[in-house]
Amino acid sequence: MRFEQIVGQRNLINTLIDVVLSNRVSHAQLFLGSAGHGGFALALAYAQFVSCTNKQIYEDVKEGELKADSCGKCPSCVKYQILSHPDLFFTFPNTATKNVEKNNESADYIECFRNYVLSRNAYIDLESWYQELGVDNRQGIINVRDANTIIKNLTLKTYESQYKINIIWGVDKLQEDSANKILKILEEPYENTLFLLIAENSESLLPTILSRTQLVKLPPISDEAMKEFLLKEGVEDVENVVRMAGGDLIKAFSRTNDTNIEYRKLFIQFNRLAYVYNSSISEMLKLVEQISKMGREELKNYLNYTLVLYKECFVYNELKVDSNDNFTEEERDFKINFSKFITPRSLLSIYKLTEKAILEVTRNGNAKMIFLTLGINIGKIIRNSVNK
Ligand SMILES: [Zn+2]
Repeated sequence: MRFEQIVGQRNLINTLIDVVLSNRVSHAQLFLGSAGHGGFALALAYAQFVSCTNKQIYEDVKEGELKADSCGKCPSCVKYQILSHPDLFFTFPNTATKNVEKNNESADYIECFRNYVLSRNAYIDLESWYQELGVDNRQGIINVRDANTIIKNLTLKTYESQYKINIIWGVDKLQEDSANKILKILEEPYENTLFLLIAENSESLLPTILSRTQLVKLPPISDEAMKEFLLKEGVEDVENVVRMAGGDLIKAFSRTNDTNIEYRKLFIQFNRLAYVYNSSISEMLKLVEQISKMGREELKNYLNYTLVLYKECFVYNELKVDSNDNFTEEERDFKINFSKFITPRSLLSIYKLTEKAILEVTRNGNAKMIFLTLGINIGKIIRNSVNK
C-alpha cells in the first residue's frame, strides 16, 4: 500500500515521512484511532515506505500534498503489496474456528487475513474480521502462542530489507500473559526490528504499552478528503454519507452498503400514509402497488426489517435511547416523531399484524391485499394510541 492510497491524513503522513527521511525511525510505534480513520492502512503504507528501495521524493509540494511515497515497483514494494514480504510479520486477534479447533494463533490464519486485508484495501475492523473468520459471536485475542511466535521471529535474520517489521493489529486485545511477553520486547530495541502496533482506543490498552511506544494518533478523516474519495468510488448521495460518517471510512461504507436504505424510505412513506389513511387513499394504493412488485423473499425481508424499526421506535419512546447511528437526519426525525405512537400495547398489535402478513406472503397471498389491509389496520392502531 502506498501513502497515495490512504484517504486523507496528509499532515500526519508527511510527519511520518520526515521521521523516516531523517533516520529517526522509532523501534516501536503505536497507531491509535478508530478503525475507520485508517490506522492499519497507514501502518502498512509506512512499513512499505520504510522498506522501499526506491523512495519517491517530491519537490515543491503544496499544503496537503504528500512529500514522498514508496515507489510501488521495486521488489520490496511488489511483495509488500501482496502482503507477502519475508521480513513482514502480522499478528492479529484470533480464536478457535471450525478449521483450527485448538492451539490457534495468527500464523494459522495468515492466508485468510491477507485476502481479507487486500479485499478491503487495508481498511479493516474487528467486527468484519470476526465475520470473515466465521466467529461472529466470539471475541478474538492475541494469545501467548502469538507472543511466542513474535519472540521467535526476533531471532531470524532479515532476508531482504534493512528492517524486519512486525505489525500487531488489535493490541488492545492482548491477553495478560502475552502482553507481559510483548512488553518485555518493547522495552529494548532489537537490531533492525520495528514494531508497529495498532489499537482503536487507549482506554482498553495497557498503560505500559502506551509508555513504551511512540504515539501516532489518527484524527478523523477530513470531510473534504472523504468526499473526494467517495466521489471517485462512485458513491451516491455523497454529502449525506460524509456527514454521517464523521471522518470514519468504515462507517461511510457501511452506510453505502446498507441494503436497508430503501426499506427505511418505504417504512416512512407507508406509516405516514397509514396514519392519514382516509385523506390519502389514492396515495396508499399507489404505494401498495409499488411494494407488491417486490419478490416474495424481499417482501418478507422488508416486513421483518419493519419489526426491527418498530421496536427501535418503541425503545426510543420508552427510554429515549437511539440505538442506530446509521440513520440520516430525516430518518432519525421520523423515528423520533413516530415513536410516540409506539407504546407497549400498540407495538404488540403491530407485531401480530406484521407477523400475520409475513405468513400470508409465505403462503403466496395477494401482496396488494396484504399490504393494503396492513396499512389500514396499522393506521387505526397508531391513531388510537395517540388519543390515549
Ligand atoms: Zn519501492
